[in-house]
Amino acid sequence: AHVARLIAAGEVVSRPLDVVRELVENALDAGATRIEVELAGGGLKLVQVRDNGCGIPADSVQLAAVRHATSKLQPDIRAVDHVTTLGFRGEALWAAAQAGELGLVTRPAAQVGASEVLAHGEHITVSRTSAPAGTTVQVRHLFAGLPARLRTQASPNTEAREITTLVGRYVLHHPGLHWKLTVDGEARLTHAPADHRGAVASVYGALSANRVLNVHQGSVRGVVSRPELTRARRDRMHFSVNGRPIQAPPELEKAVIEGFAELLPVGVAPLCVLDLSVAPEDHNPNVHPAKQVVALADLPGVSARVREAVAAALAEHPL
Ligand code: ADP
Ligand code: MG
Repeated sequence: AHVARLIAAGEVVSRPLDVVRELVENALDAGATRIEVELAGGGLKLVQVRDNGCGIPADSVQLAAVRHATSKLQPDIRAVDHVTTLGFRGEALWAAAQAGELGLVTRPAAQVGASEVLAHGEHITVSRTSAPAGTTVQVRHLFAGLPARLRTQASPNTEAREITTLVGRYVLHHPGLHWKLTVDGEARLTHAPADHRGAVASVYGALSANRVLNVHQGSVRGVVSRPELTRARRDRMHFSVNGRPIQAPPELEKAVIEGFAELLPVGVAPLCVLDLSVAPEDHNPNVHPAKQVVALADLPGVSARVREAVAAALAEHPL
């Protein structure tokens, strides 16, 4: 049972980056306007995410790290097809507590006194403490008890770099929040509430931000770079579906490039940040535990909307 538990937890948390993604998504689900991420040792020593969101009430906090305990499913029998929150499985905190030592301090704004949960393996303790409103989650000593898992981890520098990219993607897709990422005590990324262009400035610098155009058409919102700011690589094409950054299917990248029509030399890709709203029943985020892959029921339709929105943005701003 012990081994089975660790294997199941490993499906959700196989590296520090998974912990960051899950904790950040919890903070977003909690309605936070300020999210601060801290790493030590590439996240293997410590991942901490602090938010000023809704907190967890004292009367339900003992469930937070219990497997399959989630506060997010609507009492609708088909609720899993209609999720609007990023989380809904109730496995992330549980998995983090299997893979490492979980510490959580939380207080809803209206509650007097905060709760502290410490969880590791089967052991959970809950106590009272004091804290500002919101939630701070720490995961320490990830995989310390799992030498085989530890051996397959990337170096701390590599992991920190990939986590920086991940947090950057959240900043790009949620530019209206305060964000901060600290790596081994040094600020890597800070962002104050702004629009998409401001987020591009925080993540890629002012030069890139000065060269983007707004895309604002129906369910497609964000920015694309002007054609002259193009590169022969696609690592700056970012898409989200209903607030969750996704690993874009090639069809979506192609749709953006087609939106530029002949303005874009062959083989180069623009920078873009595009947030897509899709009716919850038209996408299924449940494809992979890491959830970065989403199945869009109507990919051709969504692609057409992306292509038209990009073309409209370019037409609106003659070059
Ligand atoms: P899920 O997000 O799938 O519900 P998690 O294991 O990630 O499952 O979290 C379990 C529960 O703990 C959530 O349903 C939520 O009620 C609560 N929770 C976790 N993180 C936060 C947070 N940062 N702020 C408020 N509540 C949280
Ligand atoms: Mg979650």
